[in-house]
Amino acid sequence: CGIVGYVGARQALDVVVEGLARLEYRGYDSAGVALVGDEIEIEKRAGKLRNLRDALTERPLPSSTTGIGHTRWATHGPPTDRNAHPHTDCHNRIAVIHNGIIENYSALRCDLEDRGHKLISETDTEVVAHLLEDKLAALGGAGAGGLAEAMRRVCRGLEGAFTLLAVAVDEPGAVVGARRNSPLVVGRGDGENFLASDVSAFIAFTREAVELGQDQVVHLRASSVEVSDFHGDPVPTNTYHVDWDA
Ligand code: GLU
Repeated sequence: CGIVGYVGARQALDVVVEGLARLEYRGYDSAGVALVGDEIEIEKRAGKLRNLRDALTERPLPSSTTGIGHTRWATHGPPTDRNAHPHTDCHNRIAVIHNGIIENYSALRCDLEDRGHKLISETDTEVVAHLLEDKLAALGGAGAGGLAEAMRRVCRGLEGAFTLLAVAVDEPGAVVGARRNSPLVVGRGDGENFLASDVSAFIAFTREAVELGQDQVVHLRASSVEVSDFHGDPVPTNTYHVDWDA
């Protein structure tokens, strides 16, 4: 239901959790975060953001300047810790969050399971982490834009409505986003950039925003924002100033 991503110089966890708090008004049943370092670190809990914050106090995550966060409004699978986002691939090297519904997830899931992938949640979302794993392997790994290319290839095979964010161990300074029939906005900062389903998530940090268009992918790094369509053709971006108060 709510999505936040950050890459820059700050503690990503602080930025992401604050962003999620600002999206709370939209309603949700679970919340979770993923940070990128030598490994992907995930904490997620059914219930209010409070439950996630308590879990993070009990088990503090290592510091990281790249992260994503999600508040879920369950459509596929009940609101449990396991079904909360982020979701990961078989090797815990990729984390994905999602707003919306992937209509063709059950065919995708059957195909993944036939090929040996083990999926552990009941969500439609988890297929995306495993599909990214396959596409990255086919590309010879992440790094140098591999995650963005993997995302474009995955999105071409998805039906439905989605805002997706992904991070990968092999590309620690990047967050990749994609959207179809569901909103995604970039917040441009100085040496840092933000992604969110709604500008109110990052308005405390920057008011320079870029709306992603239909069927676009964004490759976000601390000092660059590259937008393309699902086939890899670059798309020009228009930055606008958010002048209302959140
Ligand atoms: N369909 C996904 C799920 O049930 C995402 C729901 C949402 O938009 O929060 O997990």
